Amino acid sequence: MSLAIRAARGFDGASARLLENILVLVEDGRITAVECGRTETPPGSEVVDLGDVTLLPGLIDAHVHLGFDASRDPVAQMRADSDATLLLRMRLAARRALAAGITTVRDLGDRNYLGLALRDWFRQGDELGPEIIAAGPPITITGGHCYFMGGEVDGELELRRAVRSHVKAGVDVIKIMATGGHMTHGTNPGLPQFTVAEVRAGVEEAHRLGRTLTAHAHGPSGIAVAVEAGVDCVEHCSFRVDGTRKPDWELISRIAAAGIAVSPTVGSPGPLTESFVPILARMHQQGVRIVASTDAGISPQRPHDALPHAVGFLAGCGMSNNEALAAATSVAAAVCGVGERKGALQAGKDADLLAVGGNPLADIRALLDVRAVFRHGMRLT
Ligand SMILES: [Zn+2]
Repeated sequence: MSLAIRAARGFDGASARLLENILVLVEDGRITAVECGRTETPPGSEVVDLGDVTLLPGLIDAHVHLGFDASRDPVAQMRADSDATLLLRMRLAARRALAAGITTVRDLGDRNYLGLALRDWFRQGDELGPEIIAAGPPITITGGHCYFMGGEVDGELELRRAVRSHVKAGVDVIKIMATGGHMTHGTNPGLPQFTVAEVRAGVEEAHRLGRTLTAHAHGPSGIAVAVEAGVDCVEHCSFRVDGTRKPDWELISRIAAAGIAVSPTVGSPGPLTESFVPILARMHQQGVRIVASTDAGISPQRPHDALPHAVGFLAGCGMSNNEALAAATSVAAAVCGVGERKGALQAGKDADLLAVGGNPLADIRALLDVRAVFRHGMRLT
């Protein structure tokens, strides 16, 4: 099936200048050409004229939990659900993300590998869903953060074994809980759960098996463990200890020097996130690769279509609008290991596209004015 999509403007996934009067040619779900000012269309292709819109690469949320339902107590809901019910809930969450133009989500924690089941279901093509990059149950310590998802291990050997069994089950990425978390009673977000040697063992196994490893970490001592162990990405990286932020500027320099990405899981600006702004601004200044992510599902403030708000938040942290958009497209694609296929308006990439009214480089809120979404060249109705 070939498609010729016209749009008044286009964002390529990185540049500060929009492309004008673009024609995007799509063949079998893939972009074959992006041209400016071309008037004729190839014979036999279906022409879709989107008019006065900006066409962007589909957005990528680098941290979601499809299994959390964005209620006041998503943990209780998940624990009450059977696997069958939970899978249906995850399907709804995924569809909600897709409708907002979020064509790829990285699910960093499910139960019983349900995220993989949903990933494979959408991949079969009977139903349109976002591409899911799935971690399966996060690896944690006994009684540790999100232990109820089933990924409890202790010690280096069990950690290695867990990485191997996750890869055997078919995960795309390894997620490890380097500190406690706010959602799990009895854990301490301010302190490490694993030693450097343990996390390093996980990184070694993951890399040996061709996977990246990303670490959940809040407190600076836990972030330091993750950085020392050589993880690929730090989730949250909030520097939160006992309800306050304790930024460690030297540690931020080390994150930048090591080329470790940061996935700050933010939503709309609020009193809790305000203190995060100078920390993220410093990271950006130092050249840390920051990806847009939300932790979607964890609360009513983080529904599964929250990513445009996260992009807006990043634009308030010293990033220009095109840099904040890159954090949700080209940079996110690279960090999530799908840079070959996603994140850019470019020949060879998957035809995962989002059309919005207005110009998001001038006003980021334009992202909320969704006019069309394409996933693998198919238009979501
Ligand atoms: Zn999370």
